Amino acid sequence: KPMLRIEHVSKRYRMGGEIVKALDEVSMTVMQGEMVAIIGPSGSGKSTLMNTIGCLDSPTSGSYWLDGDEVSRLSENKLAAIRNRKIGFIFQSFNLLSKLSALENVELPLIYRGVPAKQRKELAIAALRKVKLEERMGHKPTELSGGQQQRVAIARALAGEPPLLLADEPTGALDTKTSNEVMQLLQELNEQGHTIVLITHDMDIAKQAKRVIRIQDGKLYEEGRDPYEVQSR
Ligand code: ADP
Ligand code: ADP
Repeated sequence: KPMLRIEHVSKRYRMGGEIVKALDEVSMTVMQGEMVAIIGPSGSGKSTLMNTIGCLDSPTSGSYWLDGDEVSRLSENKLAAIRNRKIGFIFQSFNLLSKLSALENVELPLIYRGVPAKQRKELAIAALRKVKLEERMGHKPTELSGGQQQRVAIARALAGEPPLLLADEPTGALDTKTSNEVMQLLQELNEQGHTIVLITHDMDIAKQAKRVIRIQDGKLYEEGRDPYEVQSR
């Protein structure tokens, strides 16, 4: 089944007297269980697409179905509720809280969702086990390497068992070797059934996804099938 489906989505910004089309009538479908990389240079519309897919912002026009729900016209509050339930975010900068242990960081989104303490701890430990960091769960972020910190952040994204993982330049702050380890982990999670969309400007990273979509001037192109524009699959 489709995990996300975007149809004829545009996002326009007004800049002084001009209108910038950050997304220009784009359509794409990601099926459940797929791992897709979206690659594009600076200014191509990646952040705008990421914010749209991540329910952080609504399109100017077009439709967006996420896990069966049409979300393109929802209020801020409803969008936030969908975002919290449906999407696990992974960021370039890890965004871990330095005063909390790895375990407490992973528990944090579950606290927001009102999961009871005992179940919260079980889910968080299970997520840390998935990223093979169970034995470091008492460590603070500063006591962990960059790669380990990103694995904690991935565990945090997994903890609420969201249907979609959305990774924004997940290796952007890591050296090549550590980047490859993080990509290997994402590939393993995908093989276990997790649907993953990752956004990057790095072709070596994008190539490690099974499917690559290029974004250029606010339009999408399926890599390896040029010059056909992405419609749906
Ligand atoms: P990327 O993440 O690939 O660098 P963005 O999605 O940030 O691309 O930007 C795509 C285009 O939209 C750029 O031309 C950018 O200047 C413009 N843009 C993005 N956000 C805004 C905004 N809030 N107001 C005006 N223009 C914007
Ligand atoms: P960058 O890729 O420039 O380092 P981030 O990945 O930190 O930026 O953030 C990308 C987008 O996600 C921004 O629009 C930001 O406001 C939003 N964001 C950052 N942290 C969170 C969070 N914990 N939950 C929801 N949205 C977030």
